[in-house]
Amino acid sequence: MTDDDQHTPLGVLRRVFGYGSFRGQQQEIVDHVIAGGDAIVLMPTGGGKSLCYQLPALLRPGLGIVVSPLIALMKDQVDALRQAGVRAAALNSGLPAGEAGRVERAARDGALDLLYVSPERLAMPGCLDMLRRCRLALFAIDEAHCISQWGHDFRRDYQALGILKESFPETPLMALTATADGPTRRDIAEQLHLGAARVFAAGYDRPNLFYRVVPKRNAKDDLLRFLDAEHAGDSGIVYCLTRRSVEDTAVWLGQRGREALPYHAGLPAETRARHQDRFLREEGIIIVATVAFGMGIDKSNVRFVAHLDAPKNLEAYYQETGRAGRDGLPADAWMSYGLADVMSLLRLMEASDIDQRQRRIERQKAEALIGFCETVSCRRQALLGYFGEREHPPCGNCDNCREPVASWEGTIAAQKALSAVYRTGQRFGAHHLVDVLVGNATERIRRFGHDRIKTFGVGAELDASGWLSVIRQLLAQGHLLPDPEGHGGLALAPSAAEVLRGAVELRFRSEAPRERKSRKSDGTKGPASGAAGATLDPVAQTLWEALRAWRLDEARRQELPPYVIFHDSTLIEVARRRPASVEALADIPGIGRSKLDRYGMALLAIAASET
Ligand code: ADP
Ligand code: ZN
Repeated sequence: MTDDDQHTPLGVLRRVFGYGSFRGQQQEIVDHVIAGGDAIVLMPTGGGKSLCYQLPALLRPGLGIVVSPLIALMKDQVDALRQAGVRAAALNSGLPAGEAGRVERAARDGALDLLYVSPERLAMPGCLDMLRRCRLALFAIDEAHCISQWGHDFRRDYQALGILKESFPETPLMALTATADGPTRRDIAEQLHLGAARVFAAGYDRPNLFYRVVPKRNAKDDLLRFLDAEHAGDSGIVYCLTRRSVEDTAVWLGQRGREALPYHAGLPAETRARHQDRFLREEGIIIVATVAFGMGIDKSNVRFVAHLDAPKNLEAYYQETGRAGRDGLPADAWMSYGLADVMSLLRLMEASDIDQRQRRIERQKAEALIGFCETVSCRRQALLGYFGEREHPPCGNCDNCREPVASWEGTIAAQKALSAVYRTGQRFGAHHLVDVLVGNATERIRRFGHDRIKTFGVGAELDASGWLSVIRQLLAQGHLLPDPEGHGGLALAPSAAEVLRGAVELRFRSEAPRERKSRKSDGTKGPASGAAGATLDPVAQTLWEALRAWRLDEARRQELPPYVIFHDSTLIEVARRRPASVEALADIPGIGRSKLDRYGMALLAIAASET
């Protein structure tokens, strides 16, 4: 590298961050902001937004101000930058006494490159005055969708940021977010006075996520089989609908040898904080949580997000699964989905306390989620299509692409099921209907005289789970309706009449268990320490484990999360390439000058010692 290179974006990318090249639109964005332009950046999680403001902050004279909503997230970013040798600090309400004054002085004296500020801190009297006394390189508003009421995480204290453009008209202003639909985008631009800003939109795709939906049989057993086969030793998140199932599942996983911690809004704040902290700082921890968990979780090596119950809608699903694989390595989005999920989704949209318009929106959202779960074609196409990206080819990285779904001609079966609903008076639940269909004369069936109706026992061709699958798909296709009271009863929808008349033909997806074949179908055994290292040969695998152990020690010593020291991807490359010299080590992505100085010798020693 020549000295000239040191002061170009690429030079700084290599020297400080240890990356060889830009990704996607990073270079364009960086150049645009260095030249003084404003920007709105829409990039999926893991797309590399941070470098888009970090590099211009390092390359423009003065201090870069980053507004970020969560203190924990800020701390991670500052720690990671310091590891890379960048002069970074944070200003927020979590600082020890005296620290804020010290940080402000450093900012004024030009002793900082990047300053992370919480929005409420920025709104405090005196903060803007303080910034006026600094030389400023740029403002970056991270998680910019928080400014909009249309967005999913509206935060009142973000609205004060509207003043920045007026107060600092000469300083480039950037708004960055991973999720903003059309109205939210326009709102961001308006509220931040970014009407003239250039928009960089990278789309929503997360190519490294493998999407999979498995029919619900015994959800916990299915989850455990998935974890054992593909994520032994990996860290991940399991989402459940209720606090109760969060607790049960955490205990259940614990009894089966996994380190699983519960997280929901009913736990004391102190317990939640402790569990979150362990999740961030230790390896291999599974968090079992309600949707209360996750906002601002910046852990880069979450290897899977599993839904034991279907999420509320596709936005929520995208957000929640988006927490996996921020480091760009393969990660799994796994969902267990069944009749109960369809029923609760359909009921949600019948909720009586919402007005017509709202109900229509809720219905479309629930239908889109059901459609995603039921689809026999590419999941990614379904997901991205929902966000308005309709041009994607089949992805090759979801369950349906990997192993096409068989379907079967189900008109007769559908007629049998619908007729069972009709003849029992349109008020019984799925399990009762299944008993009727397969001819299971239980005490309850006899009590209602349902062993004497014409449909009793007509469905010997399928077993109970086969019929449950038919009933679920009839609900999903809109031929059955759940009773609005939520007692689990089923009634015919208007369209059922046509099915019964034989005027339409129905097809159903076949649901033989197929999860084992979906990913590791080549007969290889699951890796001992998780999917990230899955492609390593046994020697490299041993080395990767030694490197992980070293990183954990180092992280404990410095009281930092391990991924702040090195990302998995970097250590995996070290394991794969086994560098024998400082030069070879410096070549590995994610090892910049500062980390080379600090850790180079330790890494080389480990690479040399293990066999
Ligand atoms: P986002 O904020 O968009 O979710 P990050 O900025 O945290 O994403 O980046 C995601 C991951 O990608 C990080 O591990 C980061 O180090 C890595 N990364 C970003 N840009 C590059 C690049 N040009 N080359 C290699 N890795 C990169
Ligand atoms: Zn696909």
